[in-house]
Amino acid sequence: MARPEIDQAALAQALRAFASVVGAGNVFSEEQDRVEYSDHFAPEEQAEAHQPSAAVAPETAEEVRAIVRIANQYKIPLWPISRGKNFGYGGAAPVLKGSVILDLSRMKRIEVDEKSGTVLVEPGVGFFDLYDYLQEHNIPLWMSVPGNSWGSVAGNALDRGVGYTPYGDHASRICGLEVVLPDGDLVRTGMGAIGEGATWQLYKPGFGPSWDTMFCQSNFGIVTKLGLWLMPEPESVLGLNVDVDNPEDIAWLVDTLGPMRREGILQQSPSIGNWLRAAATMTTREEWARPGERISDAAIAAIRAQFDIGWWGVTLRFYGPLEITEATLRVAQKAFDDKPVFKMGQTRWVKGDAPEGSPVTGVPVTFPLSNANWFGGRGGHLGFSPVLPVDGDIALRYFNRNYELHNEFGFDYHPSFAIQERSMNNINQLLFDRDNPTMVANLDTMFRTLVREAASEGYAEYRTHISYMDVVADTFDFNDHALRRLNEKVKTALDPNGIVAPGKSGIWSAGTNETAA
Ligand SMILES: Cc1cc2nc3c(=O)[nH]c(=O)nc-3n(C[C@H](O)[C@H](O)[C@H](O)COP(=O)(O)OP(=O)(O)OC[C@H]3O[C@@H](n4cnc5c(N)ncnc54)[C@H](O)[C@@H]3O)c2cc1C
Repeated sequence: MARPEIDQAALAQALRAFASVVGAGNVFSEEQDRVEYSDHFAPEEQAEAHQPSAAVAPETAEEVRAIVRIANQYKIPLWPISRGKNFGYGGAAPVLKGSVILDLSRMKRIEVDEKSGTVLVEPGVGFFDLYDYLQEHNIPLWMSVPGNSWGSVAGNALDRGVGYTPYGDHASRICGLEVVLPDGDLVRTGMGAIGEGATWQLYKPGFGPSWDTMFCQSNFGIVTKLGLWLMPEPESVLGLNVDVDNPEDIAWLVDTLGPMRREGILQQSPSIGNWLRAAATMTTREEWARPGERISDAAIAAIRAQFDIGWWGVTLRFYGPLEITEATLRVAQKAFDDKPVFKMGQTRWVKGDAPEGSPVTGVPVTFPLSNANWFGGRGGHLGFSPVLPVDGDIALRYFNRNYELHNEFGFDYHPSFAIQERSMNNINQLLFDRDNPTMVANLDTMFRTLVREAASEGYAEYRTHISYMDVVADTFDFNDHALRRLNEKVKTALDPNGIVAPGKSGIWSAGTNETAA
């Protein structure tokens, strides 16, 4: 079945009606606006295939409700964004071309409960906004931030984003949502469903079924408030920065860190990155290889020497009272005693010291964005992020195969392996030059190959780009795609007109589905 077309006359009427709700100054429908809200990290053709027709920016939940009612009336799909910085996964752009972006970035209220260590944010609250708020009010709570912290606390958590402190699994720290449903109803989840819910941000399950996770990576509603737990500022953060010398060291590194993470010796999920992850923010490819030429082993060695980095590197941090972190550090160090470590450095932060100033201490940063310049031209990247078991042999095998594929298709391998308690997220940034047609053509073929090969081993992505949501959803094929049928039943019941983010995570209302490309 073909994807629905947007009726231009209905769109024009809807935009006028939106303007009556939010004011004409908050409806954006010029060509330049469409460019602003498109995917800046995608190849031209792909960006074009997902270009929105306009954007509307409400300031309150009541305005969101009014917009949703109008969207139903004129059958105009809305794509909600909090700040729209989902680079590598689609930026602000929608799955369905011509959708209207529901830009929630004007909704910026912050309510912190210092004693309980929680915050209630509106979607437009950026990581920098919340950081500034905590600093200005001298509140001893730490955030967990993603490597690119330009985005929003809510949008990132709703997309199951990750950070680098013990609170780094952001979706798991959500406690209580306020949501506008596709029919315009307003609901509060968990204990927020009590009139004046006094424990909304304190107790996740609520009474009866729990709904918070239903609104993560879904298109079942528009979140207008999100509760989140924040980490009490620890007394100390001690750390080890470990670098290893050889590509195959990934196997023992994973097998060393995995048990420590499972046992709770490691409270954060350490992310093992290769030399390129470190180097791509500090140099560009043209300094080390001619265009089209493979990066030689000699060039890799030279890059590593210049920046003093291993083939792989990982940052371990231990949080809490000094007596405990000192003991934990000793235990962790011992685990490396008989290992061929290339380089190991210690870090130490104790309350009162100047902040370490990086995501491991919850400080927002944007410098990783500069890795898009690696190839030159107008850079971008596509995220490929399968979930694997925490197993050194699997990591090594997976690394070897993907390294080979990158070389075959003319890409440089930029992976990380984030060790969680029971799984490992292998986050690959497929860096490319948007002005290089060969790379652009190869990117799609390589991505589909990666998805297909992962699926053949029983693995799939935890999060994907808007262009591949159907493709990835298709790999969840138990019982002839029973999960898709369930998602579509729920979607169709809540959103028969397919108004909210059609196609998100491969979920379409009945009658608007397209067979996965
Ligand atoms: C170099 C680099 C490094 C990165 N590092 C990380 C990292 O370490 N960890 C990480 O997680 N990400 C990372 N990212 C990806 C991305 O930049 C961040 O996740 C960013 O926070 C997402 O943008 P946002 O917060 O503005 O969310 P948005 O773009 O606003 O939204 C994200 C998704 O959630 C949906 N959504 C947003 N708000 C709502 C709402 N209110 N209701 C319903 N649905 C909603 C949107 O439709 C969208 O699909 C990185 C990207 C780059 C380029």
